[in-house]
Amino acid sequence: MTDCGCNKAMEELEEFLHNELSAEQCADIREHLANCDHCSAEHLVGITLTTKVKEACQEKAPDQLRDMIVGSLAQLEKS
Ligand SMILES: [Zn+2]
Repeated sequence: MTDCGCNKAMEELEEFLHNELSAEQCADIREHLANCDHCSAEHLVGITLTTKVKEACQEKAPDQLRDMIVGSLAQLEKS
């Protein structure tokens, strides 16, 4: 068994979540996630965030979402 290790798994998690990895790379990450509690927890968080963002984009009109983001950025700049 060749485990790609936590560092590589974490580096490639983002791409993995967005299906931007080759089949071979995906298999490596998948295998690591199956064996590593830490990385599989990170993966779960990543999936949840990705799904929430997608849901938010679908539920809300893009304009509304943009205003919300612009609004919260403006608040950050003020503080
Ligand atoms: Zn790991």
